[in-house]
Amino acid sequence: MEKRDLVIIGGGSAGLSAAVAAFDLGLESILIIERGSHLGGILNQCIHTGFGLSTFNEQLTGPEYASRYMKMIEDRNIEYRLETNVLEISPDKIVTVTSTAGLSQIEAGAIILATGCYERNAGAILLPGDRPRGILTAGQAQEYINIRGYSVGKTHFYFRKWRYWTHYGEKNDLGRCPSFGSGGTYAV
Ligand SMILES: Cc1cc2nc3c(=O)[nH]c(=O)nc-3n(C[C@H](O)[C@H](O)[C@H](O)COP(=O)(O)OP(=O)(O)OC[C@H]3O[C@@H](n4cnc5c(N)ncnc54)[C@H](O)[C@@H]3O)c2cc1C
Repeated sequence: MEKRDLVIIGGGSAGLSAAVAAFDLGLESILIIERGSHLGGILNQCIHTGFGLSTFNEQLTGPEYASRYMKMIEDRNIEYRLETNVLEISPDKIVTVTSTAGLSQIEAGAIILATGCYERNAGAILLPGDRPRGILTAGQAQEYINIRGYSVGKTHFYFRKWRYWTHYGEKNDLGRCPSFGSGGTYAV
C-alpha cells in the first residue's frame, strides 16, 4: 500500500495553503487529493476581485489567487491527484480513493480535511416544497455564469441572509457586478 506522511483531502485554497505550510516546515511526503479536474476549488468560479489583499497585498481574482498557490505547489514539487475522490477514511488513517485508475488505498501519517463547505439547499433548511425551475444557490449561479458562460435569466429576485466574502467597499448586487459572487440563495 502507498504511504504518505500527510494526505490533504481537497485542493481548494485551504488544502493548497496547508500543503505549502507543511512543506515549508520540512514535510516532503505530501499528497493532495482533489476530486475536481483542477486545483483551486471554489476560487475558480469566483472571478471577481477582492482576494489576495492580506496574503499578497494585491487585488486578485479567485483564479489568479489560486494560480499563485498552484505555482507554489509546482515549485515545491508537491504531489497532487486530480479527479480522485476520497470515499472513506478508516480510524487507522487508511484513505480509500476512487479515480479512473480504480479503487486504491493510501496509508497516511496525518490527514488534513480541506473539503470546503457546501451551500444548504431548500430541503436542508426545512423549506417545504419542490425546487422550482429557476431557483439556484449562489454557487450554482456562479458556476453557470462564470465557468460555463450561460445566462441564468434576465430578471432576478435575490435573497441574501448574510455577507461574508472579501469585497472591500464594492457593492455586489447582480445588476452592478460583472461577475457573480455572493452567499445566500437567490432566484431568477
Ligand atoms: C458559491 C460560493 C462563493 C464564495 N465566494 C467567496 C468569495 O467571494 N470570497 C471569499 O473569501 N470566500 C468565498 N466563498 C467561501 C469560500 O468557500 C472560501 O473562501 C474558500 O474558497 C474555501 O476554500 P476551501 O479550500 O476551504 O474550500 P473549497 O474551495 O470548496 O475547496 C474544497 C475542495 O475539496 C474538494 N473535495 C471535497 N470533497 C472531496 C472528496 N471527498 N475527495 C476529494 N476532494 C474533495 C472539492 O472538490 C474542492 O475543490 C464562497 C463560497 C461559495 C460556496
